[in-house]
Amino acid sequence: MSSVPEFLNETLYAEWGQRFQQTKTLFSFDTGFQKLVIFENPLFGRVMALDGVIQTTEKDEFVYHEMLTHVPILAHGKVTDVLVIGGGDGGIVREVLRHKNIKHVTMVEIDPAVVEMSKKHLPNHSAGAFEDPRLKLEYMDGAKFVAETEKRYDVIITDSTDPIGPGEALFTHDYYAQCKRCLKDGGVLVTQNGVGFMQLSETQDTYRRQSPIFKDAGFYVAAVPTYVGGNMHLAWATDNATLRTQPVEEIRQRFQAAGFKTRYYTPEVHVAAFALPQYVLDALKEVELAAAA
Ligand code: SAM
Repeated sequence: MSSVPEFLNETLYAEWGQRFQQTKTLFSFDTGFQKLVIFENPLFGRVMALDGVIQTTEKDEFVYHEMLTHVPILAHGKVTDVLVIGGGDGGIVREVLRHKNIKHVTMVEIDPAVVEMSKKHLPNHSAGAFEDPRLKLEYMDGAKFVAETEKRYDVIITDSTDPIGPGEALFTHDYYAQCKRCLKDGGVLVTQNGVGFMQLSETQDTYRRQSPIFKDAGFYVAAVPTYVGGNMHLAWATDNATLRTQPVEEIRQRFQAAGFKTRYYTPEVHVAAFALPQYVLDALKEVELAAAA
């Protein structure tokens, strides 16, 4: 009997979206926080979805994980302490820990099952990062952590799901204000902010909430194939406006000194990532005008 291939239809948009052939389901379970599925696909390798939304795939994870870590770390230039909120698959902490000058990384993940199942089924994402002595892993709501911690960080990376379910708490004014409290002087907050073309109102929401808190709020982009609909927007927030405009020669020196190879990130891509298309600039201007009215 010919087996009809099974597909996972992404549910991020009711009217449109991508589908993945599931040749083998490795894990499918309601963790109590979200529905976690990890399956195999002939094109993208192993894929993770949370509540029907694609989170990461073996084939293209490097784009997002390299851009959400090396851009703030190399723009800052003197990072020793990093906070990662979310990041359960381990890709972000893997990339952060490649920087030898980094002394402490705290990762705060709400759902232990995502870490455990990623270690088991997506081992190349963390690639041993969870065993690095510099890493401290906490299981709790990231919004609660930043409201309570007395620790301070040079870079905070929010590698969360979209603003639905447990992720919603990580897109609020209060969360951003608490992140600001937890940053050392001149520190940087970066957050995953969805695919700008499809989720432009979420870009505007973040800009509206971050601009009153940080002297320099904005976005940079990365092209992640399985975050469908165009460039992924990564929100950038800091009180040190010079960090965003570092010359490429400076970034190049720092990257060479870091001494590791990447597959997407380059100093030229870093600098170019902050160049936003006109429709995005217009959408941010709309927020500015409304705030000034
Ligand atoms: N790269 C993906 C993206 O851009 O959508 C995100 C991947 S990572 C798997 C997202 C993680 O955020 C998940 O492990 C999820 O459990 C975690 N998460 C969601 N809400 C959270 C919260 N309030 N506190 C801490 N972690 C949270």
